[in-house]
Amino acid sequence: MDSKTLYARAQRVMPGGVNSPLRACRYVNSEPVFIERAEGAYLWDVEGRKYIDYVLSWGPLLLGHCHPDVAEAVYMAVNKGTSYGAPCEGEVALAEEINKLVPSMEMMRMVSSGTEATMSALRLARGYTGRNKVVKFVGNYHGHNDAFLAAAGSAAQIVPGTPGVPEGVIQYTLLAQYNDLEAVKAHFEQSGDDIACVIVEPVAGNMGLVLPKDGFLQGLRDLCTQYGALLIFDEVITGFRLSIGGAQQRFGITPDLTTMGKIIGGGFPVGCFGGKREIMEHMAPCGGVFQAGTLSGNPVAMASGLATLKALQQCDYDALEARTTKFASELCNILREKGQAIALNRIASVYTLYFSEVPVTNMIESSACNGDLYAAFWQQMHAQGVNLAPAGFECTFTSFAHTDEDLEQTLEAARKVSF
Ligand code: PMP
Repeated sequence: MDSKTLYARAQRVMPGGVNSPLRACRYVNSEPVFIERAEGAYLWDVEGRKYIDYVLSWGPLLLGHCHPDVAEAVYMAVNKGTSYGAPCEGEVALAEEINKLVPSMEMMRMVSSGTEATMSALRLARGYTGRNKVVKFVGNYHGHNDAFLAAAGSAAQIVPGTPGVPEGVIQYTLLAQYNDLEAVKAHFEQSGDDIACVIVEPVAGNMGLVLPKDGFLQGLRDLCTQYGALLIFDEVITGFRLSIGGAQQRFGITPDLTTMGKIIGGGFPVGCFGGKREIMEHMAPCGGVFQAGTLSGNPVAMASGLATLKALQQCDYDALEARTTKFASELCNILREKGQAIALNRIASVYTLYFSEVPVTNMIESSACNGDLYAAFWQQMHAQGVNLAPAGFECTFTSFAHTDEDLEQTLEAARKVSF
């Protein structure tokens, strides 16, 4: 069956024909293709067309699709049952592995998505501090919890007034522009006694990729310590991608709580939140902060996550970063030679190429980028078998599975694009 027919069927039974809004490809004035299978750096659609994939399930597949070690671990686990609703060794082993690689996560709890992880971390921060307010940054996305939808990034940014989110729920959400430490300081000066936490994407990935300015993360750390608030790093994108120890290792800053998702399931629905033992022990059944999940610590997902983290430890992050740096800047040059103004933000194996005259350091600058030019670029790349993020305000990822040939073929496709 072809994508057009499937999309028509999907639209009858699912809003917009999708289970997550960006997949509808509306920001690139296109319709989705339906995927039949994926392996390594490639996707194949239902009509047999092959794509070099730079979305990688929105980041987690740093090993590429269907890595043999991960697939093997999943097959083995499935043969032993798919859900127990009771403790199993896999969840202990994955938690131990995460603790080894991200030592600030002394204790953690597994959940099934990034959204659940941030929602639970916020409840814990409130329960632990006895305070209500949360500082979040404009354009940061922490999943679709009510409290975080205020001025969220990613596809949520265009929802006018976030219908369905009562004013009362977001009255505790204080906003600041990313990289604006003074704005955070002002919030603390005004309501420091009632700020439970500051949540931040240590490198923002949902208004395109935006790097923290020098001193920004350290400044947040200092303010939280000074006012007795918790610092939460949302490492759903950065965890195990910026380095094997995530953004906190790369920048040398220790949050009180960390949220993770995606990558720790190696393609399965997993998230987790964790941090200092003293804080985590406020969770039920040790403490009074409640959270639970039937599928939390699911044995198949745990096996997939553990195999992913083990395989990542064998990988050469520096080499991938060097290749991505060269690739992204060549891509940039190709577009500049075509007369386009491009701003490039990159770190490790993730980047965003903005159609922008000015550098992008926050949501205001990200929103000002030219979405029509990005759509034209996306469409022409897609037609040549290159799958980029279907919106200009998202990140593009490379994986350990991308070969030099894949990257060169992508650059060749970009050379053929016209505006
Ligand atoms: N936090 C961040 C930083 C994210 O990028 C995302 C999703 N892209 C989430 C949380 C939510 O994760 P999920 O989609 O698994 O609910």
